[in-house]
Amino acid sequence: MTSRRVTAARVAFATWLVAACTAPAPSPLPSARRPNVVVFLVDDLGTQETSVPFQATASALNKVYRTPAVERLAAEGVKFPQAYASAVCSPTRISLLTGMNVARHGVTNWTLRRDASPDDAHPTLLPPEWHVNGLTAPARPHARTVAATPLPALLRDAGYRTIHVGKAHFGAIGTPGADPTALGFDVNVAGHAAGAPGSHLGQRNFSSTWRKGDAVWDVPGLGTYHGTDVNLTEALTREAIAELERAARDGAPFFLHLSHYAVHAPYEDDARFRGAFDAAGLPPFQARLASMIAGMDRSLGDVLDALDRLGLAQDTVVLFLSDNGAPAQCPRNLPLRGHKLAPYEGGVRVPLLARWPGVAPAGGVAAAPIVVEDVFATVLDVAGVDWRGRTVQQVDGVSFAPALRGETASADAAARPLVWHYPHHYAGQAPWSAIRVGDHKLVHHHADGRLELFDVVADAAEQVDLAAREPARLHALAGQLGALLRARGACMPMRKQGGAPVPFADEVAGAAGGASSSAAWRPQ
Ligand code: CA
Repeated sequence: MTSRRVTAARVAFATWLVAACTAPAPSPLPSARRPNVVVFLVDDLGTQETSVPFQATASALNKVYRTPAVERLAAEGVKFPQAYASAVCSPTRISLLTGMNVARHGVTNWTLRRDASPDDAHPTLLPPEWHVNGLTAPARPHARTVAATPLPALLRDAGYRTIHVGKAHFGAIGTPGADPTALGFDVNVAGHAAGAPGSHLGQRNFSSTWRKGDAVWDVPGLGTYHGTDVNLTEALTREAIAELERAARDGAPFFLHLSHYAVHAPYEDDARFRGAFDAAGLPPFQARLASMIAGMDRSLGDVLDALDRLGLAQDTVVLFLSDNGAPAQCPRNLPLRGHKLAPYEGGVRVPLLARWPGVAPAGGVAAAPIVVEDVFATVLDVAGVDWRGRTVQQVDGVSFAPALRGETASADAAARPLVWHYPHHYAGQAPWSAIRVGDHKLVHHHADGRLELFDVVADAAEQVDLAAREPARLHALAGQLGALLRARGACMPMRKQGGAPVPFADEVAGAAGGASSSAAWRPQ
């Protein structure tokens, strides 16, 4: 895609974005006309790990993996080539459920055990005081959680049946948010505190005890499939389709949050598909991963087919996305740089597709950047639910439903800053924050204060650091990043020596290069 086309698309997107901010709140539609919503969330699926290119031309990996259902969804819906999430699981999932940016909700790393942080020791820094226990609902306050009005609770109040199937990973063990039904879901199948399964295999009862692993990873509630050859992805699909069948009988609108444990570790063959990739000559690990991706794709295809069979497809919006980039164990996300946990596009850019029959153009492309907290506002917008004034939290996300409706409209929103915040040292990744405004992204490395600047449209691979070449832009972005992190109450790592928090990017930039050119800018 040329930069001109990207720019034109961004201006169109910007126009509707401003319209969305200034328009009166939507009135709820009559229940019978409200669209159903399916959010199909994949774990750790990189932008290159489907056969659908999310850039101008197919990458090497796009030619390796086989995802005909993702291709179908792209042909029938709208593709977002510049969609973002956080760089790791829990922060993304809580942004999706609350509409809050990660810096505001403060669940900045992945959660599991109560009051325990998974951070690795760092030579000079201590972990920040983050919301290590995850998300909770306002009525169920708990220490070291963020209390927010969750998306499914708002939908349920509006008459939707709210269904969670699969990986939850919203709250730590022993806290209210570990159970999706405490967050507004009517139904919870197989979701709990853990962000990975003990096993993807029915033969192993979806448990890690076969390798003497910790039982905290055992997937709950799928005993029907224990001891069988049914893969976890297939089991969750069957459960989800059973819920769709019930919804079709009931006739009430539904919200299905189908959140696969795939394609997260442990890496185990999906036996239905492994042979094809061995035959294609892939190395063993990649053939295994490809089989898990193919299993995920089969699930998507089965769900789309079920919507057709049940007569629901025309009334159902389907969103497909991943929660972060592909992990370091996986082949590189080329042409993008970096993996899961990293501040680069390979860590935070995710595949995202949206299908809205009769509304969104089939095969459309919406090139403007969006971020996972936008999904919250988008789903409520699609459902016609007036949520403004009904949440305890300040919502950062903006609906991208107008882009699906083909609405156009101003340039201010093109400058909407997108913010990432990962103040942790984990699995080799040192703490960082980042901001994207327009085509440019600034990365602030907390440990040494280093700032990097990239044009992620012209240089999506982030090979050319513009920090020394464009000091005015560097200072402007550092100013915006510092101001937004302060405004959102972001937690920063602490210096081991002296105990002070790490300075924000603008404080670093100011010390390194003089006055910030962003002095007049104020966070919204
Ligand atoms: Ca993940």
